Amino acid sequence: SSKNRVVARKLSLPETEKTGNRVTVFVRVRPISKKEKEADSRCCVTIVNPRDVYLTEFVNPNGYLRLKRIRRRHFTFDACFPDSATQQEVYSTTTSELVEGVLQGRNGTVFCYGATGAGKTYTMLGTVESPGVMVLAINDLFGKIKTRSCDGNYAVHLSYLEVYNETGIVAAGLTQYRVYSTDEVMILLQQGNHNRTTEPTRANETSSRSHAVLQVVVEYQVRDAAMNIIKNVGKLSLVDLAGSERALATDQITLRSLEGANINRSLLALSSCINALVDGKKHIPYRNSKLTQLLKDSLGGTCSTVMIANISPSSLSSGETQNTLHWADRAKEIRTKTWMQANDANEDLFPVIETGTDQATLVLELQKENR
Ligand code: ADP
Ligand code: MG
Repeated sequence: SSKNRVVARKLSLPETEKTGNRVTVFVRVRPISKKEKEADSRCCVTIVNPRDVYLTEFVNPNGYLRLKRIRRRHFTFDACFPDSATQQEVYSTTTSELVEGVLQGRNGTVFCYGATGAGKTYTMLGTVESPGVMVLAINDLFGKIKTRSCDGNYAVHLSYLEVYNETGIVAAGLTQYRVYSTDEVMILLQQGNHNRTTEPTRANETSSRSHAVLQVVVEYQVRDAAMNIIKNVGKLSLVDLAGSERALATDQITLRSLEGANINRSLLALSSCINALVDGKKHIPYRNSKLTQLLKDSLGGTCSTVMIANISPSSLSSGETQNTLHWADRAKEIRTKTWMQANDANEDLFPVIETGTDQATLVLELQKENR
């Protein structure tokens, strides 16, 4: 399996960069679906200004009377995207800054969180006509490298993984590739997602339970005045999380109490890590799941973290929406102030994780020609 490892090493960041920032949290409301319209559901989400959203709760007291409005909850985020927001708007506001950071040797992570059907995959992967954050980020990255490659050498490594049910990690339909252009990456991502989306019944089941993780590592070499080689390494992680309906809304549930329950362990472990980061704990339980192992250098510390909470506007989903907004609201509290110990110099950039019987081949290599 050693041939599958990327051997680049992470360098420590300078002292001045050891202060982190908070997680930025966005909400995206998708358009109401045909099914929701036909079910005569009400719209329960109102974006009142670019940062504020109201969730209206309705009840149906006698089982057949008109829905009655009972309560309005108010949430504030870094930005709220209405159903008319374009993919490019979402990318520019949430992720483009992180791409710039990665080119300067910083880590950045973007999650899409929400119930199945809320628009996570649309936001992350998108369609051929409206490519999502993953594709726009890679496009942007390559565009920037192209214009800058005269002042250094860049190497880009890419991996696209699916974390499924803790039984293992499979490269989503991909083995090992060396690619040279964005178009090729797009094709590979689409092929990779094919496995998640082709067969309707199984795909629904699979994509609601699995996490799709695209990680892009950019190495950048320059010589300083004394002609020493300076190497910067930055990593961008883009994550389409499993459907949050599988996670429990409460913060108190521990992993152990859920042993055997049909609950997504990785999603819970992610919540635990986020809770630990919120509480400023020294020990962050990254080892509790495959997903958090993958992301251990991509959460907290000096990593810039972005959360996109995807929601449906329909009153049919108001319970899920409330859970999602609650979780997103909590994520705002994370202060990534602690310097990460996990990130010592000998750490592999792509941690190799036991996958049971077969060690899946995880790594796509995307080498920019050295000039
Ligand atoms: P999830 O990945 O959260 O389960 P999807 O991204 O698959 O949800 O979205 C469910 C459906 O809604 C898909 O058919 C998708 O194309 C559509 N959809 C989601 N968000 C949008 C959007 N912003 N604009 C248009 N269609 C969307
Ligand atoms: Mg999906």
